[in-house]
Amino acid sequence: MTHANFNCLRCGACCRGPGDVILRDGEAEAIADLLGLTPHDFTARYTRLLADRRGLSLTERADGACIFLETGNACLIQNVKPRQCRGFPNEWRSERLTAACAALRDVIM
Ligand code: SF4
Repeated sequence: MTHANFNCLRCGACCRGPGDVILRDGEAEAIADLLGLTPHDFTARYTRLLADRRGLSLTERADGACIFLETGNACLIQNVKPRQCRGFPNEWRSERLTAACAALRDVIM
């Protein structure tokens, strides 16, 4: 599944639209630390329960984009962003995101 020739265009398409950005062990603490928040405050302000109530997702802006997507498609938490974000598209991908990602379309077509 790994594409050595994949070159991210930094379009931010994978950070927009519906879906969960799941936090794994230690990730909430790392992001809280970067933001200068306690883990409790970070969790209260920037996360929501998953539908199955078994974990946390980052929240979204009103337009559906990730709460940490900034102007210019930069990620506010780039250095500590969740593994889910770092893993796309080589560790995982969905049909919707594959269709949304122009760089990925270039290497698989
Ligand atoms: S945390 Fe950063 S990389 Fe992950 S979805 Fe949000 S803006 Fe995108």
